[in-house]
Amino acid sequence: MSEINRAAGGIAPAGKALSPEEIRLHYYNTPTEELVRMGGECCRSVHGPDVLLRGLLEYTNYCSSNCLYCGIRHDNSNVQRYRIDEDMLLEAARAGFDRGLRTFVIQGGEDSEYPVDRICRLIERIKEMTRGEAAVTLSCGMRSLDQYRSLKRAGGDRYLLRFETSDPELHRYLRNGSSLEKRLEALEYIREAGFQTGSGFMLGLPGESDETRLNNILLAQQLRLDMVGIGPFIPHPETPLAEASQEDIEMSIRGVALLRLALPEAHIPATTAAGSLVPDGRERMISAGANVLMPNLTPVTFKKDYELYPGKICLDESGIQCISCLSLRVKPLERELSFRRGDAVRLAGSADSPVPGGVR
Ligand code: SF4
Repeated sequence: MSEINRAAGGIAPAGKALSPEEIRLHYYNTPTEELVRMGGECCRSVHGPDVLLRGLLEYTNYCSSNCLYCGIRHDNSNVQRYRIDEDMLLEAARAGFDRGLRTFVIQGGEDSEYPVDRICRLIERIKEMTRGEAAVTLSCGMRSLDQYRSLKRAGGDRYLLRFETSDPELHRYLRNGSSLEKRLEALEYIREAGFQTGSGFMLGLPGESDETRLNNILLAQQLRLDMVGIGPFIPHPETPLAEASQEDIEMSIRGVALLRLALPEAHIPATTAAGSLVPDGRERMISAGANVLMPNLTPVTFKKDYELYPGKICLDESGIQCISCLSLRVKPLERELSFRRGDAVRLAGSADSPVPGGVR
C-alpha cells in the first residue's frame, strides 16, 4: 500500500482515515492542488478506478417543508407540481436495469400523498422486476423509527438524509425551525433500522463560517456514514435566499477531498449541483476523491420541475443517454464507470458482485 502523504501529524497510510486534528490542520493549511492529489489517491487505494452509477428517480416534487434554500419548497407557488405514478417509475427503472444499472435512488420531497405503505409497494415492485439484483436507495425525508423499519422490511437497502449543516442555529434558520438534533436522531433511526446510511451537507450557505465547514466534515466522520454527498449552495431566484452570494466551486472540491480523507471507505457522489455550477464540476470532484455518479432516470417531462437549485444540467436528456456522456467524461481521469450495486465497503462480498454481461 502506498503512502497518501504526510498528514499533518505524521505519515498516513493510503486508505487510513485521518484524525479530526489532522483534518483540521489540512483544512486550514493545505493548498487545494495538494488536497485534491491526496483525496484522489486515497479514493483509488480503496475503491480502485471504478465510478459507481446510481439511477435517480425523482418521484414527487410536492413538499410540505419550507427550507429557505430549496427551489421546490412548499411556498414556491411557481413550481409545477408533479407526482409520478408507480407504473411510470417502474418503466424508468426497467430501462435503467436493462442498461445495466444495479442501484436505484428514489428521491422526493416530504409528500403525504406518497405515504410509507405506497413507497413500500414501490420498493417491492422494483425488487421483483430486478429479481432482487438491484439495490434500492431511499431519499424520502424524515420518518419515525417504525416507518424506517417498514421501508427496510419492504426491501430498501440504503437511506439518504442530509443534515445540510452542522451548525444547530443555522440549521434551525434554514430548515424552518426544524432542529439539527431531530435530524441526527432520524439518522440514528435509519441506522438502527438496518439501512446503509447516507447523509451530506451544503457548502457556501449564507451565515456559514470556516469552522462550520470544517465541522460538517468532522460530523460526517463522527457519524461513520456509508455515503456522503456535498452540494455547493446555489441561490435559487424563487426562494428567500435569492440574493445570497454564490461561493466558488473550489470550496466544494476541497470539501470532497477532506471528506475522502476523513472517510476513505464512504461512497461519495460527484454531485449534479457541482456540474451545474461549473461545466467540469463533477470531474473535479472525482479527481478529488468522489466515486459515484447519478444519471437521472426521471422521465424528461418532469425533470425540469425538480429544480432544487437553478441551472440544473441534463434536463433534456434521458438518464440512459447521460450514461454514454458520463463514460466519456471519466475516461480522461483514467476512471471507469461501474455497474456494480456498490454496497457499503463494510459489507464487501455480501451481494456486490459485478453484473454478468452488464451493458457498458
Ligand atoms: S430541501 Fe427537501 S425537505 Fe426541504 S423544502 Fe426542499 S424538498 Fe422539501
